[in-house]
Amino acid sequence: MPLLLRTLMLCLLLGIGPDGAAAPSPLLAQAASRQWMHGAENCSIDRNPAFEVFQADADTYILRQNKCLHFEAPFIYVLFGAHTVFVQDTGGKVDGPATALLDTLRGLIEQRARNSASASPAMLVAHSHSHRDHTGGDAQFRNRPDVTLVEPQREAIIRQFKLSNWPQGSATLDLGGRMLQLLPTPGHQDESLTVFDERTGWLLTGDTVYPGLVLVQHWPSYVSSVQGLAAFARQHRVSFLMGTHIEMSRGGKLYPVGTTYQPEEAGLGLQVADLFELDRRLQQTRNNAAEIVLDRLVVQPIGPVRKALGAVLKALGV
Ligand SMILES: [Zn+2]
Ligand SMILES: [Zn+2]
Repeated sequence: MPLLLRTLMLCLLLGIGPDGAAAPSPLLAQAASRQWMHGAENCSIDRNPAFEVFQADADTYILRQNKCLHFEAPFIYVLFGAHTVFVQDTGGKVDGPATALLDTLRGLIEQRARNSASASPAMLVAHSHSHRDHTGGDAQFRNRPDVTLVEPQREAIIRQFKLSNWPQGSATLDLGGRMLQLLPTPGHQDESLTVFDERTGWLLTGDTVYPGLVLVQHWPSYVSSVQGLAAFARQHRVSFLMGTHIEMSRGGKLYPVGTTYQPEEAGLGLQVADLFELDRRLQQTRNNAAEIVLDRLVVQPIGPVRKALGAVLKALGV
């Protein structure tokens, strides 16, 4: 039998990819490459729902906010364990029903309860980071008895998950038969948090790594964070890096910022090889901030003017 064929068969038996990465199930692979709802040429006549809901496996959902409602169209991850459902991010704030996301999640919980005898899990809502396109729906989760909302500030995250050595170290979270690892990854924002889901092998990287234009607030932190993720991926069975936006076409072209229509969108999932290449290129910068262009993503430092403008807008609550 040819060596390549033998290697592939061995990889299939062991459940790992030829490059050492975890071999994903077909459904999980589909989550990484499928075509999502991607806006419309004329959003005024768009009738798509506020969130597209994709079920990746029996206990795993990905939601995408409608691009016609919010041009950032962020992704939201919903991971069910036996006693807790973990929700990463709440999307951007839009006009319309104030509890659209909560209602969607309650619908998923009720549907699962109907299909199994188990009790409804408690909801734990945390964030990839504090940007408003990921925290805009927080209000609907506050002060509810069955929901724990972790506020998106670093101190709250450290307190909740006992990450007292931030940005060193990691935390483990047990959802009930499903373990997550939480990894501080500052750079895009100070409080950026990456989540590793052992079940799917997904690294939920937020705005730290995704197919699009990644803007970096603090370059040395970002370099260290990506180096840490690459080291993590060498030691764990990572299937895909799943971020919170798609801003690139399948041909590798960035869409203009603010667009509400993205035909020919790239898939959401990035490969471990993309992370290794990003790490290699970042190490070459020796902490001197400079744009990095890869096939599947572009990384840019945020200049001082943009930083100052961001600080003013934040102070004004805009
Ligand atoms: Zn962001
Ligand atoms: Zn974002």
